[in-house]
Amino acid sequence: FLKIEGIKKSFGYGENRVEVLKGLNLEIERGEFCVLLGPSGSGKSTLLNIIGGIDGADDGSITIEGERLEDMSEKRLSLYRRKHLGYIFQMYNLIPNLTVRENIEVGAYLSDQPLPVDDLLNILGLTEHQRKLPNQLSGGQQQRTAIGRAIVKNPDILLCDEPTGALDYHTSKEILKLIEKVNLKYGNTIIMVTHNDAIKDMADRVVKLKDGGIRSNILNKNKIPAAELEW
Ligand code: ATP
Ligand code: MG
Repeated sequence: FLKIEGIKKSFGYGENRVEVLKGLNLEIERGEFCVLLGPSGSGKSTLLNIIGGIDGADDGSITIEGERLEDMSEKRLSLYRRKHLGYIFQMYNLIPNLTVRENIEVGAYLSDQPLPVDDLLNILGLTEHQRKLPNQLSGGQQQRTAIGRAIVKNPDILLCDEPTGALDYHTSKEILKLIEKVNLKYGNTIIMVTHNDAIKDMADRVVKLKDGGIRSNILNKNKIPAAELEW
């Protein structure tokens, strides 16, 4: 479903040049929940940005359902990003003067096949907060709104870069349970970067990056539901 082949990426010039990804290969099946681990600076965010078409690779290719990202026109790439990808970051980046509901609707507006906003508000536990502005919400509520905005378009692939990084233990677990629920209910493929080693137990596949490549790639046959994670 998602094929990553020979991806190379460097930053900087001359003696400051660092090769972050050195010909990375990875394949992910449709509907998989994949966790990406690796030390700080190992290129996890860089890889997500390349998959998301936010940043280009120096070499290699990303193929999604048989279509190569590098071969897409600007217009096609922009359509692909709007319709097929959802992004959740550590920082929520909600629009401050729009309500919870409106922030989620912004995501729906970009899609042909949006999920019903009322259902989503309900799943996310935001129905009673839907008319609040972001600065009237807790961190967890803001992150839930950001999740709503990313998944309302029912993306084929949901890219998550440390989605629980700014949250406390309890709230993090709630957020993970939600992302798991979304994965099971809608079958979206999820690639989640995390520093938290325990989160890997809830994934279908665990990939570790190191020294510019894949250090290990393991299918997790005995995954543990988010609710039962201990860390
Ligand atoms: P962390 O766990 O700390 O988020 P990461 O694995 O996500 O780390 P990346 O953000 O992908 O790491 O960065 C990998 C390397 O590339 C780092 O050394 C970083 O300094 C460098 N890098 C990333 N983006 C840029 C950029 N736009 N310009 C220059 N260097 C960059
Ligand atoms: Mg990062």
